[in-house]
Amino acid sequence: MGVMDNEKSHADQRLPVSNAQLSSPRPRPRALLKVQVSTFVLFTLFLATWLSRDAIVWSGQGSWRPFGSEGPVAGKYCDQVLPLRPQNQSHGLDDMDKYIESDTFRDASIKRLSGAVQIPTESFDDLGAIGEDKRWDIMYDFAAYLKETFPESHETLSLEMVNTHGLLFTWKGEDENLKPKLLMAHQDVVPVPASTVDAWTHPPFSGFYDGKYIWGRGSSDCKNQLIGILEAIEELTKAGFTPRRTVLLSFGFDEEISGRNGAGHLAPFIHERYGSQGIAAIIDEGAGFVKQWGMRTALPGVGEKGYTDVHITVRMPGGHSSIPPDHTGIGVMSELITLIEAHQYPTHLNDQNPYLGLLTCGAEHSPDFPSKLKHLLRKRQRDAGLCKNKSRKDHLALEAAKDGPGTRYLMQTSIAADVISGGVKVNALPERTTAIINHRINIGEHSSVVHHKIAKLAESVAQKYNLTLHAFDGAREEPKSIMLYAGPNVLEPAPVTPSDATALSPYSVLAGTTRALYGEDIVVAPGLMTGNTDTRYYWNVSKHIFRFTAGWDAESFGMGNIHTVDERISVTSHVNMVRWMSLFIRNMDQSDLE
Ligand SMILES: [Zn+2]
Repeated sequence: MGVMDNEKSHADQRLPVSNAQLSSPRPRPRALLKVQVSTFVLFTLFLATWLSRDAIVWSGQGSWRPFGSEGPVAGKYCDQVLPLRPQNQSHGLDDMDKYIESDTFRDASIKRLSGAVQIPTESFDDLGAIGEDKRWDIMYDFAAYLKETFPESHETLSLEMVNTHGLLFTWKGEDENLKPKLLMAHQDVVPVPASTVDAWTHPPFSGFYDGKYIWGRGSSDCKNQLIGILEAIEELTKAGFTPRRTVLLSFGFDEEISGRNGAGHLAPFIHERYGSQGIAAIIDEGAGFVKQWGMRTALPGVGEKGYTDVHITVRMPGGHSSIPPDHTGIGVMSELITLIEAHQYPTHLNDQNPYLGLLTCGAEHSPDFPSKLKHLLRKRQRDAGLCKNKSRKDHLALEAAKDGPGTRYLMQTSIAADVISGGVKVNALPERTTAIINHRINIGEHSSVVHHKIAKLAESVAQKYNLTLHAFDGAREEPKSIMLYAGPNVLEPAPVTPSDATALSPYSVLAGTTRALYGEDIVVAPGLMTGNTDTRYYWNVSKHIFRFTAGWDAESFGMGNIHTVDERISVTSHVNMVRWMSLFIRNMDQSDLE
Protein backbone atom coordinates (compact mmCIF):
# COMPACT_ATOMS: atom_id res chain seq x y z
CA MET A 1 0.00 0.00 0.00
CA GLY A 2 1.48 3.29 -1.02
CA VAL A 3 2.05 6.30 1.11
CA MET A 4 -0.76 8.18 -0.53
CA ASP A 5 -3.35 5.91 0.97
CA ASN A 6 -4.87 8.42 3.35
CA GLU A 7 -6.73 5.93 5.46
CA LYS A 8 -3.50 4.39 6.57
CA SER A 9 -0.88 7.00 6.25
CA HIS A 10 -1.45 9.14 9.32
CA ALA A 11 -1.00 6.33 11.78
CA ASP A 12 2.22 5.35 10.06
CA GLN A 13 3.80 8.74 9.95
CA ARG A 14 6.97 8.73 11.90
CA LEU A 15 9.40 11.47 11.17
CA PRO A 16 11.92 12.74 11.88
CA VAL A 17 13.36 9.30 11.84
CA SER A 18 15.29 8.00 14.75
CA ASN A 19 17.50 4.96 14.72
CA ALA A 20 15.13 3.04 16.95
CA GLN A 21 12.41 3.29 14.33
CA LEU A 22 14.33 2.07 11.39
CA SER A 23 14.49 -1.67 11.66
CA SER A 24 11.52 -3.91 11.30
CA PRO A 25 11.12 -7.58 11.98
CA ARG A 26 11.84 -9.85 9.07
CA PRO A 27 8.87 -10.17 6.75
CA ARG A 28 6.92 -13.37 7.02
CA PRO A 29 8.08 -15.95 4.50
CA ARG A 30 5.92 -15.70 1.46
CA ALA A 31 5.11 -19.35 1.27
CA LEU A 32 2.76 -18.82 -1.63
CA LEU A 33 5.42 -17.48 -3.85
CA LYS A 34 6.47 -20.01 -6.38
CA VAL A 35 10.11 -20.90 -6.54
CA GLN A 36 11.47 -18.75 -9.21
CA VAL A 37 15.19 -18.69 -9.36
CA SER A 38 15.01 -16.28 -12.15
CA THR A 39 18.12 -15.46 -13.98
CA PHE A 40 19.30 -12.61 -11.99
CA VAL A 41 18.46 -9.63 -14.11
CA LEU A 42 21.68 -7.79 -14.37
CA PHE A 43 20.52 -4.44 -14.11
CA THR A 44 22.52 -2.88 -16.55
CA LEU A 45 23.42 -4.14 -19.83
CA PHE A 46 24.92 -0.89 -20.28
CA LEU A 47 24.87 -0.83 -16.64
CA ALA A 48 27.09 -2.05 -13.94
CA THR A 49 28.73 -1.04 -9.88
CA TRP A 50 30.21 -0.84 -5.54
CA LEU A 51 30.16 -0.83 -1.33
CA SER A 52 31.57 -0.16 2.05
CA ARG A 53 31.91 -2.77 4.66
CA ASP A 54 29.00 -1.24 6.49
CA ALA A 55 26.82 -2.42 3.71
CA ILE A 56 27.21 -6.03 4.51
CA VAL A 57 27.59 -6.06 8.23
CA TRP A 58 23.99 -6.09 9.25
CA SER A 59 24.37 -5.55 12.94
CA GLY A 60 20.78 -6.48 13.64
CA GLN A 61 20.02 -3.65 16.03
CA GLY A 62 21.84 -5.49 18.76
CA SER A 63 19.60 -8.50 18.67
CA TRP A 64 20.38 -11.96 17.48
CA ARG A 65 18.10 -13.60 15.06
CA PRO A 66 17.98 -17.17 13.90
CA PHE A 67 19.81 -17.79 10.69
CA GLY A 68 18.32 -20.64 8.78
CA SER A 69 17.72 -23.74 10.81
CA GLU A 70 21.18 -24.02 12.23
CA GLY A 71 21.09 -21.30 14.78
CA PRO A 72 22.34 -17.77 14.99
CA VAL A 73 25.28 -16.33 13.16
CA ALA A 74 26.84 -13.24 14.60
CA GLY A 75 26.82 -9.90 12.93
CA LYS A 76 25.44 -10.28 9.42
CA TYR A 77 21.80 -9.58 8.85
CA CYS A 78 19.63 -8.07 6.23
CA ASP A 79 17.70 -5.59 8.31
CA GLN A 80 14.72 -3.98 6.63
CA VAL A 81 13.76 -0.38 7.18
CA LEU A 82 10.22 0.47 8.17
CA PRO A 83 8.13 2.36 5.62
CA LEU A 84 8.97 6.02 5.77
CA ARG A 85 6.29 8.61 5.06
CA PRO A 86 6.39 12.38 5.09
CA GLN A 87 4.91 14.12 8.08
CA ASN A 88 3.80 17.75 8.34
CA GLN A 89 1.60 17.24 5.34
CA SER A 90 -0.33 20.34 4.28
CA HIS A 91 -3.72 20.18 2.60
CA GLY A 92 -1.95 21.05 -0.60
CA LEU A 93 0.37 18.06 -0.29
CA ASP A 94 -2.46 15.72 0.66
CA ASP A 95 -4.33 16.84 -2.43
CA MET A 96 -1.19 16.44 -4.51
CA ASP A 97 -0.70 12.86 -3.36
CA LYS A 98 -4.27 12.05 -4.35
CA TYR A 99 -3.94 13.85 -7.66
CA ILE A 100 -0.82 11.90 -8.68
CA GLU A 101 -2.83 8.70 -8.27
CA SER A 102 -5.71 9.98 -10.40
CA ASP A 103 -6.52 9.16 -14.01
CA THR A 104 -6.25 12.84 -14.86
CA PHE A 105 -2.64 12.87 -13.78
CA ARG A 106 -1.95 9.56 -15.52
CA ASP A 107 -3.27 10.90 -18.83
CA ALA A 108 -1.27 14.11 -18.54
CA SER A 109 1.82 12.14 -17.58
CA ILE A 110 1.50 9.92 -20.65
CA LYS A 111 1.45 13.03 -22.84
CA ARG A 112 4.51 14.52 -21.14
CA LEU A 113 6.67 11.39 -21.39
CA SER A 114 5.46 10.59 -24.89
CA GLY A 115 6.32 14.12 -26.00
CA ALA A 116 9.82 13.77 -24.59
CA VAL A 117 10.36 10.48 -26.43
CA GLN A 118 9.33 12.15 -29.70
CA ILE A 119 12.40 14.39 -29.60
CA PRO A 120 15.24 12.22 -30.98
CA THR A 121 18.11 13.25 -28.71
CA GLU A 122 20.46 10.60 -30.06
CA SER A 123 24.09 10.44 -28.91
CA PHE A 124 26.35 9.33 -31.75
CA ASP A 125 29.82 7.92 -31.15
CA ASP A 126 31.31 10.23 -33.78
CA LEU A 127 29.80 13.50 -32.58
CA GLY A 128 32.08 16.47 -33.16
CA ALA A 129 32.48 19.58 -31.05
CA ILE A 130 29.40 21.25 -29.55
CA GLY A 131 28.54 24.25 -31.71
CA GLU A 132 30.23 22.75 -34.76
CA ASP A 133 28.41 19.46 -35.11
CA LYS A 134 24.80 20.38 -35.75
CA ARG A 135 23.56 17.07 -34.41
CA TRP A 136 23.94 18.42 -30.86
CA ASP A 137 21.39 21.13 -31.57
CA ILE A 138 18.46 18.79 -30.96
CA MET A 139 19.24 19.34 -27.27
CA TYR A 140 17.95 22.93 -27.64
CA ASP A 141 14.60 21.49 -28.72
CA PHE A 142 14.58 19.21 -25.72
CA ALA A 143 15.34 22.03 -23.27
CA ALA A 144 12.58 24.12 -24.88
CA TYR A 145 10.17 21.20 -24.50
CA LEU A 146 11.01 20.94 -20.79
CA LYS A 147 10.44 24.66 -20.32
CA GLU A 148 7.06 24.55 -21.97
CA THR A 149 6.00 21.34 -20.18
CA PHE A 150 7.13 22.32 -16.67
CA PRO A 151 6.41 26.05 -16.33
CA GLU A 152 6.16 26.12 -12.52
CA SER A 153 9.49 24.34 -12.09
CA HIS A 154 11.17 26.80 -14.43
CA GLU A 155 9.55 29.66 -12.54
CA THR A 156 10.53 28.43 -9.07
CA LEU A 157 13.91 26.76 -9.62
CA SER A 158 16.93 28.47 -11.10
CA LEU A 159 18.37 26.88 -14.24
CA GLU A 160 22.00 27.03 -15.33
CA MET A 161 23.28 25.67 -18.63
CA VAL A 162 26.63 23.98 -18.10
CA ASN A 163 28.74 23.38 -21.21
CA THR A 164 25.82 24.54 -23.39
CA HIS A 165 23.41 21.61 -22.94
CA GLY A 166 24.00 20.40 -19.40
CA LEU A 167 20.99 21.37 -17.27
CA LEU A 168 21.45 22.20 -13.59
CA PHE A 169 18.29 23.15 -11.70
CA THR A 170 18.57 24.51 -8.15
CA TRP A 171 15.67 24.71 -5.73
CA LYS A 172 17.11 26.54 -2.80
CA GLY A 173 16.28 25.09 0.60
CA GLU A 174 15.39 27.10 3.71
CA ASP A 175 18.25 25.65 5.73
CA GLU A 176 21.56 26.37 4.09
CA ASN A 177 23.41 24.20 6.60
CA LEU A 178 21.91 21.06 5.11
CA LYS A 179 23.69 19.40 2.22
CA PRO A 180 21.62 19.39 -0.97
CA LYS A 181 20.14 16.24 -2.45
CA LEU A 182 20.79 15.64 -6.12
CA LEU A 183 18.51 13.91 -8.62
CA MET A 184 20.01 12.88 -11.95
CA ALA A 185 19.07 11.59 -15.39
CA HIS A 186 20.41 12.06 -18.92
CA GLN A 187 18.71 13.79 -21.84
CA ASP A 188 20.32 11.73 -24.59
CA VAL A 189 19.36 8.32 -25.93
CA VAL A 190 21.07 5.48 -27.76
CA PRO A 191 20.75 5.99 -31.53
CA VAL A 192 18.33 3.87 -33.52
CA PRO A 193 20.20 2.43 -36.52
CA ALA A 194 18.24 2.91 -39.75
CA SER A 195 18.50 -0.83 -40.37
CA THR A 196 16.47 -1.63 -37.25
CA VAL A 197 13.65 0.93 -37.60
CA ASP A 198 11.41 -1.56 -39.38
CA ALA A 199 11.85 -4.09 -36.59
CA TRP A 200 10.06 -1.85 -34.09
CA THR A 201 6.43 -2.68 -33.31
CA HIS A 202 5.79 1.07 -33.09
CA PRO A 203 8.17 3.63 -34.61
CA PRO A 204 11.08 4.38 -32.25
CA PHE A 205 10.37 8.09 -31.87
CA SER A 206 6.58 7.88 -31.91
CA GLY A 207 6.05 7.80 -28.13
CA PHE A 208 3.08 5.57 -29.00
CA TYR A 209 0.79 4.69 -26.08
CA ASP A 210 -0.97 1.33 -26.38
CA GLY A 211 -3.12 1.51 -23.25
CA LYS A 212 -0.39 0.16 -20.97
CA TYR A 213 3.05 1.05 -22.34
CA ILE A 214 4.69 4.10 -23.87
CA TRP A 215 6.92 2.94 -26.71
CA GLY A 216 10.10 4.42 -28.05
CA ARG A 217 13.80 5.05 -27.66
CA GLY A 218 14.51 6.66 -24.32
CA SER A 219 11.16 5.68 -22.79
CA SER A 220 12.93 3.54 -20.18
CA ASP A 221 16.54 4.78 -20.56
CA CYS A 222 16.00 7.23 -19.16
CA LYS A 223 13.55 9.96 -20.13
CA ASN A 224 11.19 8.24 -17.70
CA GLN A 225 13.57 9.24 -14.91
CA LEU A 226 14.11 12.77 -16.19
CA ILE A 227 10.41 13.49 -16.81
CA GLY A 228 9.46 11.67 -13.59
CA ILE A 229 11.77 13.92 -11.55
CA LEU A 230 10.40 17.08 -13.15
CA GLU A 231 6.80 15.94 -12.75
CA ALA A 232 7.41 15.43 -9.02
CA ILE A 233 9.03 18.87 -8.76
CA GLU A 234 6.22 20.50 -10.74
CA GLU A 235 3.54 19.03 -8.49
CA LEU A 236 5.45 19.90 -5.32
CA THR A 237 5.81 23.51 -6.41
CA LYS A 238 2.12 23.68 -7.30
CA ALA A 239 1.24 22.24 -3.88
CA GLY A 240 3.14 25.07 -2.20
CA PHE A 241 5.96 22.87 -0.90
CA THR A 242 9.18 24.62 -0.01
CA PRO A 243 12.22 22.44 0.62
CA ARG A 244 14.20 22.65 3.81
CA ARG A 245 17.13 21.00 2.07
CA THR A 246 18.21 22.34 -1.32
CA VAL A 247 17.18 20.15 -4.26
CA LEU A 248 19.48 19.93 -7.28
CA LEU A 249 18.60 18.38 -10.63
CA SER A 250 21.48 17.56 -12.92
CA PHE A 251 20.76 16.36 -16.46
CA GLY A 252 23.70 15.40 -18.67
CA PHE A 253 23.35 15.01 -22.43
CA ASP A 254 25.88 12.42 -23.60
CA GLU A 255 25.71 9.61 -21.05
CA GLU A 256 25.45 7.01 -23.79
CA ILE A 257 28.82 8.03 -25.19
CA SER A 258 30.68 8.27 -21.85
CA GLY A 259 29.20 11.49 -20.44
CA ARG A 260 32.34 13.56 -20.85
CA ASN A 261 30.58 16.68 -22.19
CA GLY A 262 27.60 16.54 -19.86
CA ALA A 263 28.25 14.94 -16.48
CA GLY A 264 31.97 15.52 -17.07
CA HIS A 265 31.27 19.26 -16.74
CA LEU A 266 28.26 19.24 -14.41
CA ALA A 267 30.01 17.26 -11.67
CA PRO A 268 33.03 19.59 -11.37
CA PHE A 269 30.64 22.57 -11.45
CA ILE A 270 28.70 21.13 -8.50
CA HIS A 271 31.92 20.18 -6.74
CA GLU A 272 33.21 23.72 -7.09
CA ARG A 273 30.03 25.13 -5.56
CA TYR A 274 29.36 22.65 -2.75
CA GLY A 275 32.77 21.14 -2.08
CA SER A 276 34.01 17.60 -1.57
CA GLN A 277 31.27 15.30 -0.32
CA GLY A 278 29.06 18.40 -0.30
CA ILE A 279 25.94 16.55 -1.48
CA ALA A 280 23.84 14.48 0.94
CA ALA A 281 22.69 11.87 -1.58
CA ILE A 282 22.53 11.29 -5.33
CA ILE A 283 19.86 9.32 -7.18
CA ASP A 284 20.63 8.42 -10.79
CA GLU A 285 19.26 5.86 -13.24
CA GLY A 286 20.29 2.29 -12.55
CA ALA A 287 19.17 -0.99 -11.14
CA GLY A 288 15.56 -1.67 -10.30
CA PHE A 289 13.52 -4.57 -9.01
CA VAL A 290 14.13 -8.29 -9.40
CA LYS A 291 12.52 -11.46 -8.24
CA GLN A 292 14.99 -14.04 -7.03
CA TRP A 293 14.58 -17.06 -4.80
CA GLY A 294 10.90 -16.13 -4.71
CA MET A 295 11.79 -12.82 -3.09
CA ARG A 296 10.78 -9.45 -4.59
CA THR A 297 13.74 -7.20 -4.14
CA ALA A 298 14.57 -3.57 -4.82
CA LEU A 299 18.24 -3.26 -5.66
CA PRO A 300 19.54 0.30 -5.52
CA GLY A 301 22.97 0.18 -7.15
CA VAL A 302 25.48 1.08 -4.47
CA GLY A 303 28.51 0.10 -6.51
CA GLU A 304 29.80 -0.23 -10.06
CA LYS A 305 32.41 -2.52 -11.50
CA GLY A 306 35.49 -0.91 -13.02
CA TYR A 307 36.32 -0.71 -16.71
CA THR A 308 39.34 -0.95 -18.98
CA ASP A 309 39.83 -1.57 -22.69
CA VAL A 310 43.23 -3.04 -23.53
CA HIS A 311 44.39 -2.26 -27.07
CA ILE A 312 46.85 -4.72 -28.60
CA THR A 313 48.86 -4.15 -31.76
CA VAL A 314 51.04 -6.86 -33.32
CA ARG A 315 53.57 -5.58 -35.86
CA MET A 316 55.27 -8.17 -38.13
CA PRO A 317 57.22 -7.87 -41.38
CA GLY A 318 55.16 -7.89 -44.56
CA GLY A 319 55.90 -9.88 -47.68
CA HIS A 320 54.37 -12.17 -50.24
CA SER A 321 52.00 -14.74 -48.86
CA SER A 322 53.50 -17.50 -51.01
CA ILE A 323 56.50 -17.60 -48.67
CA PRO A 324 54.95 -17.03 -45.24
CA PRO A 325 56.39 -17.52 -41.79
CA ASP A 326 54.72 -20.29 -39.76
CA HIS A 327 52.75 -17.61 -37.93
CA THR A 328 51.62 -14.31 -39.42
CA GLY A 329 50.73 -11.32 -37.29
CA ILE A 330 47.15 -12.58 -37.29
CA GLY A 331 48.29 -15.98 -36.01
CA VAL A 332 50.36 -14.37 -33.27
CA MET A 333 47.46 -12.16 -32.23
CA SER A 334 45.20 -15.20 -32.17
CA GLU A 335 47.63 -17.03 -29.94
CA LEU A 336 47.75 -14.12 -27.52
CA ILE A 337 43.96 -13.79 -27.39
CA THR A 338 43.63 -17.54 -26.83
CA LEU A 339 46.08 -17.25 -23.93
CA ILE A 340 44.20 -14.30 -22.43
CA GLU A 341 40.89 -16.16 -22.62
CA ALA A 342 42.48 -19.26 -21.10
CA HIS A 343 43.49 -17.25 -18.03
CA GLN A 344 40.13 -16.19 -16.64
CA TYR A 345 39.98 -14.09 -13.49
CA PRO A 346 38.90 -15.80 -10.29
CA THR A 347 35.27 -15.78 -9.22
CA HIS A 348 35.61 -13.97 -5.94
CA LEU A 349 33.30 -12.17 -3.53
CA ASN A 350 35.14 -9.35 -1.88
CA ASP A 351 33.79 -8.33 1.53
CA GLN A 352 32.84 -5.00 -0.06
CA ASN A 353 30.87 -6.56 -2.89
CA PRO A 354 27.17 -5.59 -2.65
CA TYR A 355 26.22 -9.02 -3.98
CA LEU A 356 27.23 -10.42 -0.61
CA GLY A 357 24.53 -8.16 0.84
CA LEU A 358 21.95 -9.60 -1.56
CA LEU A 359 22.96 -13.16 -0.67
CA THR A 360 22.62 -12.29 2.99
CA CYS A 361 19.15 -10.87 2.36
CA GLY A 362 18.18 -13.96 0.38
CA ALA A 363 19.28 -16.23 3.21
CA GLU A 364 17.44 -14.10 5.70
CA HIS A 365 14.18 -13.44 3.91
CA SER A 366 13.63 -15.95 1.14
CA PRO A 367 11.95 -19.27 1.79
CA ASP A 368 13.45 -20.59 -1.43
CA PHE A 369 17.07 -19.67 -0.84
CA PRO A 370 19.25 -22.68 -1.78
CA SER A 371 20.44 -24.57 1.30
CA LYS A 372 23.94 -25.12 -0.09
CA LEU A 373 24.41 -21.39 -0.54
CA LYS A 374 23.09 -20.78 2.94
CA HIS A 375 25.56 -23.27 4.35
CA LEU A 376 28.49 -21.66 2.53
CA LEU A 377 27.37 -18.21 3.61
CA ARG A 378 27.28 -19.32 7.25
CA LYS A 379 30.71 -20.82 6.89
CA ARG A 380 32.05 -17.60 5.44
CA GLN A 381 30.55 -15.60 8.27
CA ARG A 382 31.98 -18.03 10.82
CA ASP A 383 35.41 -17.80 9.26
CA ALA A 384 35.37 -14.00 9.00
CA GLY A 385 38.29 -12.52 10.80
CA LEU A 386 40.17 -15.81 10.94
CA CYS A 387 43.45 -15.95 9.11
CA LYS A 388 42.63 -17.95 6.04
CA ASN A 389 44.82 -18.80 3.14
CA LYS A 390 43.84 -16.12 0.63
CA SER A 391 44.74 -18.26 -2.35
CA ARG A 392 42.01 -20.75 -1.58
CA LYS A 393 39.02 -20.96 -3.82
CA ASP A 394 36.00 -18.86 -2.93
CA HIS A 395 33.46 -21.66 -2.64
CA LEU A 396 30.57 -19.34 -1.86
CA ALA A 397 31.22 -17.28 -4.99
CA LEU A 398 31.66 -20.37 -7.14
CA GLU A 399 28.41 -21.88 -5.91
CA ALA A 400 26.49 -18.62 -6.40
CA ALA A 401 27.95 -18.28 -9.90
CA LYS A 402 26.24 -21.48 -10.98
CA ASP A 403 23.15 -19.30 -11.41
CA GLY A 404 24.65 -18.17 -14.71
CA PRO A 405 26.96 -15.56 -16.24
CA GLY A 406 24.72 -12.70 -15.13
CA THR A 407 25.47 -13.61 -11.54
CA ARG A 408 29.02 -14.82 -12.09
CA TYR A 409 30.11 -11.47 -13.50
CA LEU A 410 28.95 -9.69 -10.37
CA MET A 411 31.89 -11.46 -8.74
CA GLN A 412 34.46 -11.76 -11.51
CA THR A 413 36.44 -9.51 -13.81
CA SER A 414 35.17 -10.13 -17.34
CA ILE A 415 37.27 -10.52 -20.48
CA ALA A 416 35.73 -9.87 -23.90
CA ALA A 417 37.78 -9.70 -27.11
CA ASP A 418 35.38 -7.39 -28.94
CA VAL A 419 37.25 -5.79 -31.84
CA ILE A 420 39.89 -7.15 -34.22
CA SER A 421 41.36 -6.20 -37.55
CA GLY A 422 44.42 -7.14 -39.58
CA GLY A 423 45.50 -7.77 -43.14
CA VAL A 424 44.46 -5.92 -46.27
CA LYS A 425 45.01 -8.30 -49.13
CA VAL A 426 44.84 -12.02 -49.73
CA ASN A 427 48.37 -12.28 -51.15
CA ALA A 428 50.11 -9.96 -48.68
CA LEU A 429 51.27 -10.79 -45.16
CA PRO A 430 49.60 -8.63 -42.49
CA GLU A 431 52.02 -6.03 -41.14
CA ARG A 432 49.71 -4.64 -38.52
CA THR A 433 47.05 -6.52 -36.56
CA THR A 434 45.02 -4.84 -33.82
CA ALA A 435 42.54 -6.00 -31.21
CA ILE A 436 40.64 -4.49 -28.29
CA ILE A 437 39.84 -6.51 -25.20
CA ASN A 438 37.14 -5.10 -22.92
CA HIS A 439 37.24 -5.76 -19.17
CA ARG A 440 34.76 -5.00 -16.36
CA ILE A 441 36.75 -5.05 -13.16
CA ASN A 442 35.57 -6.93 -10.09
CA ILE A 443 35.02 -5.23 -6.73
CA GLY A 444 38.24 -5.36 -4.78
CA GLU A 445 40.42 -5.46 -7.90
CA HIS A 446 42.10 -2.73 -9.93
CA SER A 447 42.85 -1.97 -13.56
CA SER A 448 46.55 -2.55 -12.85
CA VAL A 449 45.77 -6.22 -12.14
CA VAL A 450 44.39 -6.56 -15.66
CA HIS A 451 47.23 -4.65 -17.29
CA HIS A 452 49.88 -6.61 -15.41
CA LYS A 453 48.34 -9.91 -16.37
CA ILE A 454 48.07 -9.12 -20.07
CA ALA A 455 51.62 -7.79 -20.06
CA LYS A 456 52.89 -11.09 -18.64
CA LEU A 457 51.03 -13.16 -21.23
CA ALA A 458 52.16 -10.87 -24.04
CA GLU A 459 55.73 -11.17 -22.83
CA SER A 460 55.71 -14.94 -23.33
CA VAL A 461 54.32 -14.57 -26.84
CA ALA A 462 56.76 -11.79 -27.71
CA GLN A 463 59.70 -13.93 -26.61
CA LYS A 464 58.47 -16.91 -28.57
CA TYR A 465 58.34 -14.90 -31.82
CA ASN A 466 61.29 -12.65 -31.13
CA LEU A 467 59.21 -9.48 -30.94
CA THR A 468 59.79 -6.43 -28.76
CA LEU A 469 57.12 -5.87 -26.11
CA HIS A 470 55.97 -2.39 -25.16
CA ALA A 471 53.49 -2.81 -22.34
CA PHE A 472 51.60 0.33 -21.32
CA ASP A 473 54.78 2.41 -21.58
CA GLY A 474 53.46 4.99 -24.03
CA ALA A 475 56.18 4.12 -26.58
CA ARG A 476 55.66 4.78 -30.28
CA GLU A 477 54.83 1.82 -32.41
CA GLU A 478 57.79 0.00 -33.90
CA PRO A 479 58.20 -2.85 -36.41
CA LYS A 480 58.43 -6.41 -35.04
CA SER A 481 56.64 -5.65 -31.80
CA ILE A 482 53.69 -6.22 -29.57
CA MET A 483 52.31 -2.93 -28.27
CA LEU A 484 49.87 -2.72 -25.36
CA TYR A 485 48.05 0.37 -24.24
CA ALA A 486 44.95 1.17 -22.21
CA GLY A 487 41.98 2.91 -23.84
CA PRO A 488 40.94 6.36 -22.63
CA ASN A 489 38.08 5.20 -20.41
CA VAL A 490 39.88 3.39 -17.61
CA LEU A 491 37.65 3.41 -14.55
CA GLU A 492 38.36 1.73 -11.23
CA PRO A 493 35.49 0.03 -9.38
CA ALA A 494 33.38 2.80 -7.80
CA PRO A 495 33.60 3.49 -4.09
CA VAL A 496 30.82 1.52 -2.45
CA THR A 497 27.97 3.56 -1.01
CA PRO A 498 27.32 2.77 2.67
CA SER A 499 24.13 0.74 2.98
CA ASP A 500 23.62 0.42 6.68
CA ALA A 501 19.94 -0.15 7.32
CA THR A 502 20.28 -0.18 11.08
CA ALA A 503 20.93 3.54 11.41
CA LEU A 504 19.60 6.70 9.86
CA SER A 505 21.42 7.15 6.54
CA PRO A 506 20.58 8.14 2.98
CA TYR A 507 20.34 4.40 2.27
CA SER A 508 17.77 3.87 5.00
CA VAL A 509 15.73 6.86 3.76
CA LEU A 510 15.80 5.38 0.26
CA ALA A 511 14.82 1.95 1.57
CA GLY A 512 12.05 3.36 3.78
CA THR A 513 10.66 5.42 0.88
CA THR A 514 10.63 2.34 -1.34
CA ARG A 515 8.84 0.17 1.21
CA ALA A 516 6.34 2.94 1.92
CA LEU A 517 5.43 3.01 -1.75
CA TYR A 518 5.52 -0.67 -2.64
CA GLY A 519 4.76 -2.41 0.63
CA GLU A 520 6.65 -4.28 3.29
CA ASP A 521 6.99 -7.50 1.38
CA ILE A 522 9.55 -5.77 -0.82
CA VAL A 523 13.04 -6.47 0.45
CA VAL A 524 15.57 -3.72 -0.18
CA ALA A 525 19.12 -4.95 -0.71
CA PRO A 526 22.31 -3.37 -2.02
CA GLY A 527 22.82 -3.84 -5.75
CA LEU A 528 25.89 -3.94 -7.97
CA MET A 529 25.97 -2.53 -11.48
CA THR A 530 28.06 -4.22 -14.13
CA GLY A 531 27.86 -1.08 -16.30
CA ASN A 532 28.45 2.57 -15.52
CA THR A 533 26.26 5.65 -15.36
CA ASP A 534 26.99 9.38 -15.32
CA THR A 535 27.68 9.03 -11.60
CA ARG A 536 31.25 8.01 -12.49
CA TYR A 537 32.03 11.75 -12.46
CA TYR A 538 30.44 12.37 -9.07
CA TRP A 539 32.54 10.24 -6.71
CA ASN A 540 34.04 13.26 -4.97
CA VAL A 541 30.68 15.02 -4.70
CA SER A 542 28.92 12.46 -2.52
CA LYS A 543 29.64 9.22 -0.69
CA HIS A 544 25.96 8.34 -1.01
CA ILE A 545 25.40 7.55 -4.68
CA PHE A 546 22.47 5.33 -5.67
CA ARG A 547 21.86 4.09 -9.20
CA PHE A 548 18.21 3.28 -8.83
CA THR A 549 15.26 3.20 -11.18
CA ALA A 550 12.61 3.69 -8.55
CA GLY A 551 9.53 3.36 -10.77
CA TRP A 552 8.19 -0.17 -10.72
CA ASP A 553 5.20 -2.04 -12.02
CA ALA A 554 4.71 -5.34 -10.22
CA GLU A 555 3.25 -6.78 -13.42
CA SER A 556 6.16 -5.97 -15.67
CA PHE A 557 9.57 -7.05 -14.49
CA GLY A 558 12.59 -6.38 -16.64
CA MET A 559 14.53 -3.54 -18.13
CA GLY A 560 12.07 -2.44 -20.82
CA ASN A 561 14.30 -3.38 -23.78
CA ILE A 562 16.83 -0.66 -23.19
CA HIS A 563 19.39 -0.20 -25.96
CA THR A 564 17.45 -2.39 -28.38
CA VAL A 565 14.27 -2.48 -30.49
CA ASP A 566 10.89 -2.06 -28.85
CA GLU A 567 12.10 -0.08 -25.85
CA ARG A 568 9.04 0.79 -23.78
CA ILE A 569 7.87 1.68 -20.31
CA SER A 570 4.77 0.73 -18.39
CA VAL A 571 2.79 3.82 -17.44
CA THR A 572 2.13 2.36 -13.99
CA SER A 573 5.86 2.18 -13.31
CA HIS A 574 6.31 5.71 -14.64
CA VAL A 575 3.64 7.14 -12.35
CA ASN A 576 5.28 5.23 -9.49
CA MET A 577 8.54 6.96 -10.39
CA VAL A 578 6.82 10.33 -9.87
CA ARG A 579 5.35 9.18 -6.57
CA TRP A 580 8.69 7.84 -5.38
CA MET A 581 10.54 11.04 -6.27
CA SER A 582 7.97 13.22 -4.53
CA LEU A 583 8.21 11.05 -1.41
CA PHE A 584 11.99 10.84 -1.38
CA ILE A 585 12.34 14.62 -1.61
CA ARG A 586 10.06 15.08 1.40
CA ASN A 587 11.57 12.19 3.35
CA MET A 588 15.09 13.50 2.87
CA ASP A 589 13.88 16.91 3.95
CA GLN A 590 12.55 15.62 7.24
CA SER A 591 15.36 13.25 8.15
CA ASP A 592 18.06 14.46 10.47
CA LEU A 593 20.95 13.88 8.11
CA GLU A 594 23.81 16.30 7.55
ZN1 LIG B 1 20.79 5.55 -19.31
